Amino acid sequence: MHRRAVTATVAKSTSRTTTTSRLVSLTSRRSFLLTKFSSIPSSRVSVAAYSTAKTVPLTAETYASKVQRDPRYKKLTASDLEFFKLVLPGNSIITDKDDLDFYNEDWMRKYKGQSQLVLKPKTVEQVSQIVKYCNQEKLAVVPQGGNTGLVGGSNPVFDEIILSLSSMNEIRSFDEASGILKVDAGVILETADQYLAERGFIFPLDLGAKGSCQIGGNVACNAGGLRLLKYGSLHGSVLGLEVVLPDGTIYDSMHSLRKDNTGYDLKQLFIGSEGTLGVITGVSILCPSRPQANNVAFLAVKDYETVTKVFNECKKELSEILSAFEFMDLNSQKLTQQHLGVEQHPIESGEYPFYILIETSGSNKEHDDEKLETFLGNAMENGLVEDGIIAQDESQIQSLWSWRESIPEASTMNGGVYKYDVSIPLKDLYNLVEACNVELDKAGIVDFEDASKPVVSAIGYGHIGDGNLHLNVCVRQYSKEIEKVLEPFVYEWISEKKGSISAEHGLGFQKKNYIGYSKNDQEISMIKSIKNHFDPEGIMNPYKYV
Ligand SMILES: Cc1cc2nc3c(=O)[nH]c(=O)nc-3n(C[C@H](O)[C@H](O)[C@H](O)COP(=O)(O)OP(=O)(O)OC[C@H]3O[C@@H](n4cnc5c(N)ncnc54)[C@H](O)[C@@H]3O)c2cc1C
Repeated sequence: MHRRAVTATVAKSTSRTTTTSRLVSLTSRRSFLLTKFSSIPSSRVSVAAYSTAKTVPLTAETYASKVQRDPRYKKLTASDLEFFKLVLPGNSIITDKDDLDFYNEDWMRKYKGQSQLVLKPKTVEQVSQIVKYCNQEKLAVVPQGGNTGLVGGSNPVFDEIILSLSSMNEIRSFDEASGILKVDAGVILETADQYLAERGFIFPLDLGAKGSCQIGGNVACNAGGLRLLKYGSLHGSVLGLEVVLPDGTIYDSMHSLRKDNTGYDLKQLFIGSEGTLGVITGVSILCPSRPQANNVAFLAVKDYETVTKVFNECKKELSEILSAFEFMDLNSQKLTQQHLGVEQHPIESGEYPFYILIETSGSNKEHDDEKLETFLGNAMENGLVEDGIIAQDESQIQSLWSWRESIPEASTMNGGVYKYDVSIPLKDLYNLVEACNVELDKAGIVDFEDASKPVVSAIGYGHIGDGNLHLNVCVRQYSKEIEKVLEPFVYEWISEKKGSISAEHGLGFQKKNYIGYSKNDQEISMIKSIKNHFDPEGIMNPYKYV
């Protein structure tokens, strides 16, 4: 069964530079604790380990009132299968029902399609032949990477054919002089980062699912992740793409140029297109030198306003070495502690409403240590920080990161999670979590302890540095009743604050009908004409996006 082999990494790469052991001396009212660090499960957690217990309902049934199968798409026939057998070897064609489940179901176990066929091409020519045929025959196709997407975009809604990129997994080239990496779309993010680490470079994207997600998938949904604060978005670092268009044409722009002002920058259209314009088969990306010194500090603060104040101070004092600024609320940490199964939270002195993880990455250890320690000393002096710790070595860095990176898994541990990944102006960001809990409470359906209530809690965490909140409504079961309380409430709230209903996970199936909360009519109409231009038959990832 394929699912068993798929993992989501919950800790940072083992190739991070180790910090030397040191004490933090602070003259402030409370000194930073040096934790003993209880043993936390090592870097990989099986995606299925906590989620196979229940059956995933069919998307077509759960959302029957919202979506119907489009009759213009042909149903798969024996002669179609015969064609695919001419293009691919038998072991690259999956039709076994049990094996299909992994590809049909999403990571959250919320969406399930009914595809009867998964194709796993190894070359761009094979992708081209398959897509061209599907276009001619009007067979709908869902491109799939690591299947870690969080908006139901990577799974069929009905019987679409799944085109998995997992067998296209070669690193094509790496140029150490320029830092330009060229890869097949199916290379796992962690594999690429490890390859780069051995050569003194780093992949400019990092996220909790790095052990499973693929670079093509990352580009397709313009993933943001944990390093965006320092390295920017994929719209800046991707230099070129190879994409198979819906008519089978291979669009080859695997460039190695940082500057190229000749005509429209076409590759940008595919970054964030979520499989609706074509199949990404190759990626050329600029990778920076790997930082020589990393530090991680974990802090406790008294309220959300203080989180934003600490962030402002951080930007001023740590400036160029600040590589991540993540925040987490108390309930997210309580769930994570249960999920990790450890007795002690890194901050041992008590519970605090909010926690912050700060990472610095630079080139001079002494310089970075001094900067961080001065910053933390000042933050303590000024009463901004209630308590905190600094990791003393690589394993502590990983342990601290796991308290942030395990939250997505912890949020599903009671049964499921409704995920909202949103951008909101910083001052209003956490108010959304509070507003949600008020709504859930009004409906009488939320209680952290009481298992008879369907909702555990709405929790908030995320990339404060990017104005990106992950609002997770942790539930004991998925239900229409909960969804009605949350939607469109959440989207209306965000729209009122001039935020975006999707900061980094994309639209997929979940947010297709809500794009109007973030894009105006003119923008939506332009998006639709681009889609119609590239995919007039509408075969690429239908029922999603727009
Ligand atoms: C634990 C966890 C943590 C996460 N953290 C983050 C985070 O910090 N930031 C973030 O942005 N996301 C995060 N995600 C969401 C997800 O991992 C990312 O969006 C990731 O980039 C998806 O990659 P994938 O290969 O799994 O793509 P999939 O899930 O397989 O696909 C995602 C979308 O891209 C399309 N697609 C995939 N491959 C291709 C291709 N080759 N060509 C064309 N279209 C394609 C699919 O059709 C689908 O619409 C997280 C997910 C998990 C489970």
